[in-house]
Amino acid sequence: MPTYEYICRKCGHEFEAFQGIKDAPLKRCPKCKGAVRRKIGTGAGLLFKGSGFYITDYRSEGYKSKAKAERESSSSSATKSTAAPAAKPAASKS
Ligand SMILES: [Zn+2]
Repeated sequence: MPTYEYICRKCGHEFEAFQGIKDAPLKRCPKCKGAVRRKIGTGAGLLFKGSGFYITDYRSEGYKSKAKAERESSSSSATKSTAAPAAKPAASKS
């Protein structure tokens, strides 16, 4: 859940609010009921970019081709929501 920072245009009161991305932004200062504006910059969702297909680069050729096949088979649809992580390889990597 991203945190949004707001600042009141009227009294200058700054506060944070936890909101879903789809939630409408707050409009009223909790102190003076004045109009607020949202401060941009609080990161949301960046954590998801750290891991992905690149981890397969040092796996075996068979694993890579399998991942490649899966990637191609699902390329017609949106890969973001449907691409489940490939089955975890067995720990026996010798
Ligand atoms: Zn205010």
